[in-house]
Amino acid sequence: MSTSGTGNSGRKTPTTGSTGRNRNAFCSFCRKSYRDVGPLVEGPGDVYICGECVELCQSIIDQERKRRGINRTTVTNIPSPRSIKEKVDQYVIGQNRAKKVLSVAVHNHYKRLSLGDEGHTDVEVDKSNILLIGPTGSGKTLLARTLAKTLDVPFAIGDATTLTEAGYVGEDVENLLLKLLHAADFDIEAAQRGIVYIDEVDKIAKTTQNVSITRDVSGEGVQQALLKMLEGTVSNVPPQGGRKHPEQQYIQVDTTNILFICGGTFVGLEDIIARRLGRKTIGFGSNSEHRERELGEVLSHATSDDLLDFGMIPEFIGRLPILAPLDPLDEGSLVRILTEPRNALVRQYKKLFDMEGAELEFTEAALGLIAKKAKERDTGARGLRSIVEDVMTDIMFELPEMDTKGKFIVTEGVIRGEHSMFGKLIDKKSA
Ligand code: ADP
Repeated sequence: MSTSGTGNSGRKTPTTGSTGRNRNAFCSFCRKSYRDVGPLVEGPGDVYICGECVELCQSIIDQERKRRGINRTTVTNIPSPRSIKEKVDQYVIGQNRAKKVLSVAVHNHYKRLSLGDEGHTDVEVDKSNILLIGPTGSGKTLLARTLAKTLDVPFAIGDATTLTEAGYVGEDVENLLLKLLHAADFDIEAAQRGIVYIDEVDKIAKTTQNVSITRDVSGEGVQQALLKMLEGTVSNVPPQGGRKHPEQQYIQVDTTNILFICGGTFVGLEDIIARRLGRKTIGFGSNSEHRERELGEVLSHATSDDLLDFGMIPEFIGRLPILAPLDPLDEGSLVRILTEPRNALVRQYKKLFDMEGAELEFTEAALGLIAKKAKERDTGARGLRSIVEDVMTDIMFELPEMDTKGKFIVTEGVIRGEHSMFGKLIDKKSA
């Protein structure tokens, strides 16, 4: 590219206008002179741009391209349900039925959005918010989060109980959308196509034994707001969060195309379903493993009527047309969770050891015992982390400063706390 900057009018290609009679030229965008910002690129008709402004323009264009990439999902580039499920499989173990239901629902959701973009107005595909039903720690949040990651859309998590509790100050429902905006770096268009996961929706059921109803003083307004949000409304989101007040500037977020995934444990729903199916209450007199299999099977028959019987508000159920029950995780699945997902705990620790020049191994029996202990805690896969962390803390503390690093084996005895991992050090040199 020429640096002479002759400035011939009508020139098509920009050149650098840094010398010759253009020494006094300044950037047409930021108004800084050649002396301040260095070489300028000259366009036709006395127009110049400096390096900084070129970079700025590039980032604006990149951002816009990224945004359009998300927004202009055409029917052809929406991932198929199978490819969505395959990606989710890398992180979530088991739950095949729920994965299938979710992959189809999410695929259709984004298909619906692209129909709107392309101006098809003959058929309106309804919004398909999803309700996940399953025990604690079975992967409900993980599924929602992984779906968002798979589709590369903004994702936020909220809790239905805090919405009800804080109901009478009327602040929290919009805060869910604020979280989504944060996740989208305040790109409103991207946020409007994001996914929001609302946990513990079973706690806003209207059952007499439910505590939330007693503190639901004026929570009804919040529930209404939640319902509107699920269905699609333009919400005024306070950019700083917290209480709304009249002078505040709001960001308007349209929730029509936001996919809401709600989750809950729905303890007792299995009995309602079993009764409807004419079965006796599950698990009576059987062992716990059998009971769990039965629980998963019975939950798979859940219908919206069962949820109504459970005490969910009809309007709420109406806005969550897709039900996806999850199975309780058995010990086998827990072992797989420890080792198989891309971010599995055992893999993470092995990597950390590897970075220290050491090796780490878990015996099969040790993995089985960790799973068994987690199972006893009854918190699903959630218990796994604390058990493994308990065992690993001491060694992680010492490892970076140890002179002899070799192979460490986590055995059943280590998990039981009968001997430390240091006792099991096999020095590679002496071995
Ligand atoms: P909940 O069903 O209560 O929402 P979470 O999805 O929050 O449970 O699960 C807690 C943690 O347990 C997750 O972060 C994940 O590490 C692990 N986990 C739970 N279920 C699974 C699963 N099916 N596959 C892999 N990991 C899981």
